Amino acid sequence: MAEPAQLELVAVTKRYGTTVAVDAIDLKIPAGTYCCLLGPSGCGKSSTLRMIAGHEIASEGDIVLGPHNVTELPPAKRGTAMMFQSYALFPHLTVLDNVAFALKMRGVDKAVRHEKALKLLELVAMTPYAGRLPAQLSGGQQQRVALARALITEPQILLLDEPLSALDPFLRVRMRAELKRLQRELGITFIHVTHGQEEAMALADLVVLMNGGKIEQQGSPREVFNKPRTEFVARFMGGHNVIRTLDGLVAVRTDHLSVSKDTAAGRPARVVDVEYQGAWIHANLMAEDGTDLVALVPEATFDRDPFQVGDVVSVHWDAAAAHPLA
Ligand code: ADP
Ligand code: MG
Repeated sequence: MAEPAQLELVAVTKRYGTTVAVDAIDLKIPAGTYCCLLGPSGCGKSSTLRMIAGHEIASEGDIVLGPHNVTELPPAKRGTAMMFQSYALFPHLTVLDNVAFALKMRGVDKAVRHEKALKLLELVAMTPYAGRLPAQLSGGQQQRVALARALITEPQILLLDEPLSALDPFLRVRMRAELKRLQRELGITFIHVTHGQEEAMALADLVVLMNGGKIEQQGSPREVFNKPRTEFVARFMGGHNVIRTLDGLVAVRTDHLSVSKDTAAGRPARVVDVEYQGAWIHANLMAEDGTDLVALVPEATFDRDPFQVGDVVSVHWDAAAAHPLA
């Protein structure tokens, strides 16, 4: 594989007519990073990915890979590769020929390209299926072939646009672990677009949360989850209450909110819903000012001071658990 390289986006903008899909974003992705571009539908994730791939030309700004400005280069000359969904496999070609396809296009002779394709099939644990057609594979197996096919050109960066969205939940979690393992083994950068915060947190070294064509926050999953910069981040990442206090807005993790029947202990609230979730009790509450709150209470804590729907309780959090929002 080629030397991994840092990717840098400098004031990259994408306009479609009058729509600004990506708005002057700056982003540095160190070599060998698993980066997730995260955000709601329409926030500009795919446009960003396609500009990195070269399938879309940036309206403004620069895309720099290692020492090279690749902004104007065609996709095949950039050192990036896009993993397309498994349904983009050629149905009439065997698994081996599908994987070797990009090398055939580059005029590499058959023995060499087959040898290389076999190595990649080994990497994704698909060696026994080399002679099959895509239709003779399960969804997860097709996904692995699509992955091997994208990796055959030895990209420095692999680009994946919602690669797990077509899979059922069980397979999605399994393929997710395989993507992570593969990225570690190859040591190259993966840039993975997803709208699922759980997926991003499970995979990413670097989470880049986008909103309305801009980067709302970037950092490790822990930073982004524990130190949301804005209300948008706190709500999108989930697991937080957004609470108005005398000094402004704060985020308090749902598992840092304690609930007590001793009404002198904090803010009064009414219990709206109580759900048993095994290790946790998930409680929906409504504060006096109408704010919806969620408390995740460990089962043993709940057992010591149980409450039920309709109870007036008090909610409390330590000052250190209140994270100020911009
Ligand atoms: P995401 O992948 O986060 O859902 P996209 O990058 O696909 O977001 O889209 C960002 C914005 O750009 C949206 O408003 C979308 O409608 C618009 N858009 C995307 N592709 C095109 C296109 N080819 N032509 C016009 N508008 C587009
Ligand atoms: Mg998209």
